[in-house]
Amino acid sequence: PLLQEGLFKKETVKLKGELKTFAQILCEISSELGVSAYFVGGVVRDLILNRPCFDIDVVITRKVQKFAEKFARALQGEIIKKSLFGTFKIKAGAYIFDIAQMRWEYYEAPARLPRIAPGPLRLDLFRRDFTVNALALCPVTGQIVDFYGGVADIFSQKLRVLHVLSFIDDPTRIFRAARYATRFNLELTKTTLRAIDLALKFETLNLLTPARLRNEFLRIFEEKEPLKAILFLKKHRILKKLFSLDPDETLFKKAFHLAEVAGLGERAEIELVALLLAGSPEEFAKLELSTKKFESYQRQRKSLEEKASWLLDPAIPVSEKVFFLEKFPKELLCASVSFLDEDFLLRCFKHYFKVSPGLSGKDLKRLGLNSGPILGKILKKIRAAKLDGQIKDGEEITFLEKELKNGFPS
Ligand code: ATP
Repeated sequence: PLLQEGLFKKETVKLKGELKTFAQILCEISSELGVSAYFVGGVVRDLILNRPCFDIDVVITRKVQKFAEKFARALQGEIIKKSLFGTFKIKAGAYIFDIAQMRWEYYEAPARLPRIAPGPLRLDLFRRDFTVNALALCPVTGQIVDFYGGVADIFSQKLRVLHVLSFIDDPTRIFRAARYATRFNLELTKTTLRAIDLALKFETLNLLTPARLRNEFLRIFEEKEPLKAILFLKKHRILKKLFSLDPDETLFKKAFHLAEVAGLGERAEIELVALLLAGSPEEFAKLELSTKKFESYQRQRKSLEEKASWLLDPAIPVSEKVFFLEKFPKELLCASVSFLDEDFLLRCFKHYFKVSPGLSGKDLKRLGLNSGPILGKILKKIRAAKLDGQIKDGEEITFLEKELKNGFPS
């Protein structure tokens, strides 16, 4: 898109808007401190793709702390975190900046966190996950620094690792691959495919700590289309390497569709993934979930299984089925679509679970009823009448009066 707009000419980008202001501030502070600063990583990629970006990474040659303090002050933002690697996170309005010293990283063992040492820009870019992210932009000239062919890969939609051992060094990059490949519709190059093969062959995935693995799944759920990324991981045999259950694509699609309709939050989404994939408490633990949780889900799943055919019986009133199902966690219901009626679950999430009695305990008291557990029973009965189609919204009071005459509730 930038090529079309004429903003991206050969290796130079014309900065606009807030990014231009940030670049000017970076220039001022770097000349004041006598250091060089560059925008790096995702922000450069997104700029080339003309996509908005609010997470901005900056690398500088020296004096990180001083730089971060001045930068935060100039933007009227604040330093919100200092990381293990000496990087500073700054929040300024809608933007988050990561200010880091240029460095190279080396891995002493697969899947461990790297050791770091100051290094030139070329090495700072080489330590990155993919060529499309191994780009820097000089705020002074607007020039793109592209040692590894990242710009060409962006335009030809290729996802290329910097070296074939990349996923052995850091298997979380495979999950990053799943996000980028599906978000930007990128094709994996031969080296990237080979890097996956090697990571699988050398069993590096199982060396990841639960916290890191969980974090990668959480980031997948921040994507617009997480299902695509999950199916990418399935296609490339990553899920099977980590977990023993191997649900087919259709089950994933159904469960994720239900999850979307149900509006599961990120935590519940992780649990849904665990329910679909993990066959044992040990596998559950890989996503930082407890044995107790696994056992509780197992018990609940069993009660659902026992009622599967009862739920299909048209003679059973909808209200009874809804009262039964709504006691279970939503993520478990989504994962149970393999044996529960998908249409009924969909109707539950879209409509039934949201049906309310339309009156509150207070309303009932105002109508002259005494407080006590009886009020809860009455409200439940009104709700059941609505679920079973006996009454519509607005007909609650007439229904209540009629039922009270008949000695309601029984
Ligand atoms: P997103 O758009 O998903 O936020 P991003 O590219 O901004 O992507 P971040 O996780 O914020 O990604 O990381 C910033 C940059 O740091 C990346 O662009 C990449 O160059 C580098 N990076 C992050 N994590 C890794 C990793 N595990 N291995 C190598 N490089 C990484």
